[in-house]
Formats: sequence, structure tokens, C-alpha cells
Amino acid sequence: MDNSATTAVAPEVLEAMLPYFEELYGNASSLHAFGREARAGMEEARERVASLIGAEPEEVYFTSGGTESDNLALKGIALRNRAKGRHIITTTFEHPAVLEVCRGLEALGFEVTYLPVTGEGLVEPDALEKAIGPETILISVMHANNEVGTIQPLKEIGEIAKEKEIYFHSDAVQTAGKIPLDVDSLGLDLASISGHKLYGPKGVGALYIRKGAKIESIVQGGGHESGLRSGTENVPGIVGLGQACALAKEAMAEETERLTRYRDGMIDFVLSHVDDSWLNGHPRERLPSNVNLGFGKVEGESLLLYLDARGIAVSTGSACSSRKLQPSHVLTAIGLAPERCHGSLRITLGRYNTEEEVDYASRTIVEAAERFSQISAIR
Ligand SMILES: *Cc1c(COP(=O)(O)O)cnc(C)c1O
Repeated sequence: MDNSATTAVAPEVLEAMLPYFEELYGNASSLHAFGREARAGMEEARERVASLIGAEPEEVYFTSGGTESDNLALKGIALRNRAKGRHIITTTFEHPAVLEVCRGLEALGFEVTYLPVTGEGLVEPDALEKAIGPETILISVMHANNEVGTIQPLKEIGEIAKEKEIYFHSDAVQTAGKIPLDVDSLGLDLASISGHKLYGPKGVGALYIRKGAKIESIVQGGGHESGLRSGTENVPGIVGLGQACALAKEAMAEETERLTRYRDGMIDFVLSHVDDSWLNGHPRERLPSNVNLGFGKVEGESLLLYLDARGIAVSTGSACSSRKLQPSHVLTAIGLAPERCHGSLRITLGRYNTEEEVDYASRTIVEAAERFSQISAIR
């Protein structure tokens, strides 16, 4: 139940990938039959990724994952357009793959505005519009947050960006294949996708770049991916990503309905059984898979270990930050006091979770919270 950290590779994805490790192992740049077969697999995958997000295949560039896609989007646009301006707008609760790149760009002389979010984790389009200045060249707002699951009003932001002729990027790693993501209706110029968050393999991703966008390469070499991202293509991974996108498109409606039901059932059960517990993030503008609960009397780490011992995998913050001791930057951004951040638990449901598992997890969370709050009361 930690599907926002990573997902299982779907059996259909593995099956589609295997031939590209075996007989179809060609280098997609080679002109001979082996190369042409590899390229054909890759181009079919490009069409499948494009079809999931309403893009043209030529607007999809393969990368090594969400982190690289975010790096390419932000650095690539910033470096190429710096003569136009040096101001970037993002939010305080982006993934580190965006926030750390922004810090790096600040060191290169760019100015970055980190917009605050509301207590429910929403970016306010009005505040964003006010932050725009003559030097603004890029807006980057994630589609849904990986910790609290809040879905952002991208359409409204996209309209503002379009009117002001500013590039608009979104880290869509948590939403691609989960909720509708149509680059045109959201007004996106760039969008990052990662294979392993949508039942594809790790180490592969894509960046959507709207035709005509001016962007600089950050990985130079043999000129692969139309010169934008050099390096021999990870053909099996790319084929797997394409298959994952095709499956997700087909499964989305049913999965959304089912996971939303599981999600709301779990939230209601835990909140009605545990004193001083609450939901982090927005109650409705929320990923169907995301449950993020706060507990006033219990440490998140204790809950995590209790659940782990009973075969349930969850997270206390984002997987990347759970080895650090500082409170999560996302929970801080939504205004939780540091001591309130430590009692939080993120449960992220996925395609292969069953209703029985969800019930078992809900009961075990309540059991753990009761047990640990008694201990802390005695102390
Ligand atoms: C996982 C994740 C990333 C990083 O993707 P990788 O493929 O693991 O590099 C970026 N942004 C968000 C929102 C994520 O959840």
C-alpha cells in the first residue's frame, strides 16, 4: 500500500518487454533489421504515451524517469530562454526533482518564486497570476502532490500561462495513467511522466514538450531523441512504458471508481475510530489512491513499523525523505506544526490491492493507533 513510491510491473508490461531483451536487442540507431525492429517498438511506445496524454508522438521524448524529465524541463527551458527573462514560478511543495533544480538555477542567477499552498494543499491561481512579472519565463506546478494527493487547478493556471505567453510545466508523475491528463485542455507546454509509478519499469520516463517550445538539451552526445536527449535508448524500458500507458488508459475509469471507494472507506473508518486523527490534503480534489492521515497522539514511524510487521507497507512522508528526520516539506507547506507532522501516515492504494487488504489495513491502523496512544498516555 505504498503505490505512490513505486508500483509493481504489470504482467502485461513484462511480457511486452521480454522480446526486447532477447531476440529484438538491436540498437535503435542501427540501420540494419535488428535496429529497425528496435526502433519500431520504440516508436509504437511513443504513440502509446502520446495517446494517453492527448499529444502528438513527436512531442514525446524518452528519458530515464521522472527526475530526469523534471531536470530537462526546468533547466532546458531556463537555459534556452534566459535572454527573455530569468524568473521562474513554482510552489513550496513540489517534488525534490523540481525544488532542487530550482535551487540550482538560483545559483546560476535565476530568480525563483516558491508559491505557498492552502491548508488543503491547493495552489491559488490568483496568487500565481500576481507573482508573474516581465521576467517570468516558466511556471512549474505539479499535477498531483505525491504525499497528500491534492490535484491542482492546472486548467486555470494553464489559461493564465497561455495569456501571458509563459511556458507551463507540470510534474505529472503521480497522475499520468491515474486521472485524465490532456495536455491541450490543461494548457501544458511540458509534462513529466515516470514508468515505475504507473505499473511500468523503473529507470524510464518521458517528457512531453509542445511542438515549437524552445528548449536546450542537458545530456549531450550522439543526438538521440531529436538531439534533445543523447544516449542509446532503453528500448525494453520504453516498450514497457508504452504498454503501461496503453493499459492505464483502458483501466482508468474502473480503477478510479474502485480506488475512490476503498480510499473513502479507509478514511471514514480510521477517522471515526481514532481520537485526534485527521485527513491531510483536500477531501475531494484528491488522487483516488491517496490516504494521508494525521494522528495527534501517535508517531508515524511507530505505526509504520507496526504495520510492516503485519505485512502492510506504507510510508510516513515521501519515500525519498523518510530517512531524514526533518518533518516533510509538504506537510510543513500545508501549515501543519512540526509536532503534528510526525504523526502522519501515507497509504497509497493501487491496481492490485483488494478490498480485503484495504479492510485489513484499516483495522490494523486503528488497532495500532489505539495501542500506541495508550502507551503515550501512560508516559
Ligand atoms: C516519483 C516521483 C518523481 C521521480 O520520478 P523517478 O522516475 O523516480 O525519478 C518525480 N515527481 C514525483 C511527483 C514523483 O512522485
